[in-house]
Amino acid sequence: MHKTAFVWDEKYLDYSFPGDHPFKSIRESMAKKLMEERGFFHEIDVVRPTPISEELLLKVHDKEYVDHVKRLSEEGKGYLDSGDTPAFKGIFEASLIRVSGTVKALEVLDKYDHAVNLGGGFHHAKRSSASGFCVFNDVALVAKLAEEKYGRVAIIDLDGHHGDGTQALLYDDPNVLKVSLHMYHRGFFPGTGSAEEIGEGEAKGLTLNVPLPPGTGDDAYLEAFREVVVKKIRQFKPRLFVVVEGGDSHFGDPLVELKLSTRGYLEAIKKIHGLAHEYADGKLILLGVGGYNYDATARIWTLSVAEIAGIEEGEVETLHDCCFTSSTPFVKNKVEEVIKELKKIHGLGDKD
Ligand SMILES: [Zn+2]
Ligand SMILES: [Zn+2]
Repeated sequence: MHKTAFVWDEKYLDYSFPGDHPFKSIRESMAKKLMEERGFFHEIDVVRPTPISEELLLKVHDKEYVDHVKRLSEEGKGYLDSGDTPAFKGIFEASLIRVSGTVKALEVLDKYDHAVNLGGGFHHAKRSSASGFCVFNDVALVAKLAEEKYGRVAIIDLDGHHGDGTQALLYDDPNVLKVSLHMYHRGFFPGTGSAEEIGEGEAKGLTLNVPLPPGTGDDAYLEAFREVVVKKIRQFKPRLFVVVEGGDSHFGDPLVELKLSTRGYLEAIKKIHGLAHEYADGKLILLGVGGYNYDATARIWTLSVAEIAGIEEGEVETLHDCCFTSSTPFVKNKVEEVIKELKKIHGLGDKD
């Protein structure tokens, strides 16, 4: 069984930056509409988040920062970081309800196998600052909250950007495996996420970055996924999976130059879904975040929810891109080198 909860609040739509800012909540509403049209909600329960207390945010953020967000949220002007994340009136409440959704996703796993919060996944937010359109880091927060109950938590971040905030907040946490596959290139945001960043102290080896060159298509991406990520997960044996999916690794994304198709994305999700059933009694939380080609992002998210909820593939086949994408030989070679390096650093043998 794949009993699935879909966490949703209409207030999610308030988290949308004005003007020509690329981060728009239309992605979430488009995905939800695609799901409604296909009858998903006959099989998936919609659950509303319970607003969390501000105190809970202090598990991953400084009080000064939380107060700062509140202040700028009332004023409705200025930036929460050096220029990517503008404050708008009500951004505090809009952020809080989305973070509450991720906490709700964890809570409902007592009754469900899988929980989806497309409103979550703010992986760039740091302890004392916003970054890259992210205000509060629900990914790190949910991992912290889950540790005690689940023991070993794996975060798998497929967003096209490095999950730098999550990594920084959990860098020395031995209970959480932090995996991020992302584009890595000179001048590309956020600039971190190299293979050499592997964690510290007791958590050494529990940060796994897969830095990918521009132009990486399904073929090379999935090879890295199988050869490195899956092996690492099998070593760690997580009891809970948290997936930051994003949609900006898609070939149509205007900000990221990875070249995944919906089919490549889905292969990765299928694999994670299988591993969750193998190691964690299915316990899996699926989060959204980046994605600036709104149509592609909505299709990726809908297809992924269908996969984990066990909805018949025929219902969603028309949402797929025609075909898998491939990388040029030059890019493929570069990815091979990354795979080789990561296997060495993380002690992932060829036999498994
Ligand atoms: Zn399942
Ligand atoms: Zn992103």
